[in-house]
Amino acid sequence: MAIQKTQAILLAKKEIRQTSCIVSFYTKDFGKIKGLIKGVRGKQAVFGLYLQEFSVYDIVYYEKKHRDIHTISECDFKQAFRALNSSFERRLWAYYALELTDRLTPLEDKNAKVYELLLDTLNSLNTGQYVDKAIIAFQIKFLEYQGYMPQLESCVNCGGKLPQDARFSVRLGGLLCAKCFSADIQSFGATQGAVFSMKKLVQTQFSDMPRISIGEKLRDEIAILLDRFILYQTGEHLKTKRFIQNVIASEAPACR
Ligand SMILES: [Zn+2]
Repeated sequence: MAIQKTQAILLAKKEIRQTSCIVSFYTKDFGKIKGLIKGVRGKQAVFGLYLQEFSVYDIVYYEKKHRDIHTISECDFKQAFRALNSSFERRLWAYYALELTDRLTPLEDKNAKVYELLLDTLNSLNTGQYVDKAIIAFQIKFLEYQGYMPQLESCVNCGGKLPQDARFSVRLGGLLCAKCFSADIQSFGATQGAVFSMKKLVQTQFSDMPRISIGEKLRDEIAILLDRFILYQTGEHLKTKRFIQNVIASEAPACR
């Protein structure tokens, strides 16, 4: 039974008894892990610092070979993205980023880029900087880093050159050339601007995000394309996404 130490972002927690919970962390060194924390008591619990959402922890856990759930023995609070508490919308998007990561990452598959991406995304939502781009940047980069990136360079069906008015196939995972439109009758139009911007977002660091200009119309097109593609990958709407669509979209101007 190996003892592991790492930094970890809390993805989800589920209380199973008053003082125990099953948690899902995305760790810097081991990818996503699940663990049991027993005896959530003491100073940290009293001061409300224990297992807060949108927080980073230093954790120690006993790795149980061939078991999905390890025993977490230490969980020290390290950093919180507290300003998220001041914005309902940004909080929801932060929950969405955590839920998508939890849903589409396999257990114990180290991916330092995903870890950094989560930190960058939470930081951007926390500070409220370029929030409009942060979510689509998170989505497209996450797809790229996890190996789900749709094919945007050539026709996903025949490998041929793409026309200006290519169509996007969610099912086939990429763009279709004119002669392959019939390969997926549910494919839909994707503008050159949207394709260009998605490629640009993948290549751009979060710190350079202010330099990219994506108009509202283009952003909406990319958001719809990515939502449909991610829905196909997850098989069902994420809980947070459903909530965002049902509540925020009907109430006030959306933040994207
Ligand atoms: Zn083709």
